[in-house]
Amino acid sequence: MAKGSIGVTTSNIFPVIKQFLYSDHEIFLREIVSNAVDATQKLKTLANAGEFKGKTDDLKVSVKLDTKAGTLTVSDNGIGMTAEEIDKYINQIAFSGAEDFLNKFKDNANAIIGHFGLGFYSAFMVSKKVEIHTLSYKEGAKAMKWTCDGSPEYDMEECEKAERGTDIVMYIDDEEKEYLEKNRISTLLNKYCRFMPVPVIFGKEQEWKDGKYVDTDTDKVINNIEPLWTRTPTELKDEDYIKFYHAIQPGQEDPLFWIHLNVDFPFTLTGILYFPKIKNNLDVRKDRIQLYCNQVFVTDSVEGVVPDFMMLLQGVIDSPDIPLNVSRSYLQADRNVKKISTYITKKVAARLEELSKKDTKAFEEKWNDIKIFIEYGMLSDEKFCEQAMKFALVSDTEGQFFKLDDYKKLIEGNQTDKDGNLVYLYATDKEAQYSYIKAANDKGYNVLMMDGQLDIPFVSMLEQKNEKSRFVRVDSDVIDNLIRKEDDKKSELSADEQAMASTLFKSQIPAIEKSEFYVSFAALAATDQPVVITQSEYMRRMKEMAQFQSGMNFYGELPNAYNLTLNTNHPVVKKVIEAANSSLEGELKPVNDELKATNSVIEAIKSLDKDGKGVPEDKKADLKTNEDKATELRAKKDELISKYAAGNDTVKQLIDIALLGNGLLKGEALSNFLKRSVSLL
Ligand code: ADP
Repeated sequence: MAKGSIGVTTSNIFPVIKQFLYSDHEIFLREIVSNAVDATQKLKTLANAGEFKGKTDDLKVSVKLDTKAGTLTVSDNGIGMTAEEIDKYINQIAFSGAEDFLNKFKDNANAIIGHFGLGFYSAFMVSKKVEIHTLSYKEGAKAMKWTCDGSPEYDMEECEKAERGTDIVMYIDDEEKEYLEKNRISTLLNKYCRFMPVPVIFGKEQEWKDGKYVDTDTDKVINNIEPLWTRTPTELKDEDYIKFYHAIQPGQEDPLFWIHLNVDFPFTLTGILYFPKIKNNLDVRKDRIQLYCNQVFVTDSVEGVVPDFMMLLQGVIDSPDIPLNVSRSYLQADRNVKKISTYITKKVAARLEELSKKDTKAFEEKWNDIKIFIEYGMLSDEKFCEQAMKFALVSDTEGQFFKLDDYKKLIEGNQTDKDGNLVYLYATDKEAQYSYIKAANDKGYNVLMMDGQLDIPFVSMLEQKNEKSRFVRVDSDVIDNLIRKEDDKKSELSADEQAMASTLFKSQIPAIEKSEFYVSFAALAATDQPVVITQSEYMRRMKEMAQFQSGMNFYGELPNAYNLTLNTNHPVVKKVIEAANSSLEGELKPVNDELKATNSVIEAIKSLDKDGKGVPEDKKADLKTNEDKATELRAKKDELISKYAAGNDTVKQLIDIALLGNGLLKGEALSNFLKRSVSLL
């Protein structure tokens, strides 16, 4: 029997392995099974090169549990190892600066295992003793048994082994008993070995017999050795892709479409990405794309490998060129990974463009399901945005779809304002904004529907990309102001009349929580609405953006500012203002006169302030008295107008109709409106 010391520069490697790699213990199984798979693949390669003459169609890996002995064994019929090879590959693991490295990456088992080629030694994370029984394919080779109990000493001796290949026998630690449970092993094999390229056998197929499941004689192969992504796309049918999708993402609706990735240069990558039905649920789960390395599962956390927005997709990516056993930050800085990320983005965009060209109708039908993905991509990835400009769609309130360029052409003629800005009108709620949409349509304008979760930032992005263009919500002003075709029409009301009318209406607007109203005037067509309530595009959008961006809370807290616009050309509005003027004239005149007189006194006193240091001391009291008087007079005026307005059903009716049109009339105000409407009949 040969005894030796394992060639590592640090003598305490095993305690370190055991102690520090606790978080990822389970990956030992992936490491041991993939070593076994590698051993069979190597034999195949040798056979292809004519260096191995035996048959290779029975290559396989088996995993066996022996609960009595407390062992888990992974066996293969691959190339096996000679004594020299054990010495070279197992005993002499090349270490340098091991301790430093271990300390640095103690929480990342993958990093350590990958860095040192520690694959085999990961068995010690869960075992108190490991044996290798192996017989090399080489002629005349002797079967060898290697034993190590976790100390840096090992035993090696010849043994009996009739069949070519290797058994790795792991004596599971008392603290790791879970790895002696059939279900646990089954779960792990399913996770890591499901698509490995050689049959992996665990247990027997079962059948239902005499009221229970019993083992048959047939080995249970737990993996699919030729997963779909490794096959040629031209050989595959839609059903194949859909079936595979359900296998990797159980319990989901059929995918919308998929992309089969296949590239050999400048890196190797295969995979299938599926577009799931996402709907309006921005649910960025991080485990939708699985990463494989030569059919060995590595991780389902693909952050850094694909752009963020791609995480809405599902599927698999297989690449031996992604440095899988490294830390995340290293991964993100890796040049290959960057290239891969760019490549995938390009591929996805190209596929979408192709789909949009091939069958416009089908693409439109799927648009609502993929819209959120595409908008997310356009907002977060400049390159993708550039490409997506070609196929991204917008839809109008009639449900008709347009490509961005086509839509621009459609509205260019009619929706350009007097300053040459192209004005895109949009609505966010077809029902609530109905009257505004109609007013726009009546002018021959088209209105886009922007009711998706990301539409608001999307609109801002489009604005930035297109010079001389503006997006305005259809209810953010009266339509003539939204797309100004000529300079302001002068309102026929005098300043005094405007001030009076403003109070007349403002005093009768019911109190609405977190809302503020301003009254303005517009000389619209006599056939337009008499009173329109609008909400400034700027303020509303700031508030909406506040939901997406922290640091904008200030806007979110502000009350909603509405504009009540009186159409001074509307006969009813005209009549109300004229009637108010004539009946208030008598009462208002003395107040107005007195106010004017008081104001001139104030002006006169203020004019004594020559050097900007304030009025002379002896005039201060006088100024205050007059200012108070003016305030009082203004209040009196307002009171007179309000009192008159309170008795004027038409004013209230006009306001309520406008509020109703915006869904702002509720509760008591609504019930008052209904009562009043009935009494006016
Ligand atoms: P890596 O697989 O990264 O090279 P490992 O520590 O997992 O590192 O394995 C070291 C070497 O031991 C392998 O490269 C291989 O030569 C040999 N080896 C491990 N397991 C087997 C096996 N089941 N059959 C044949 N050789 C093996």
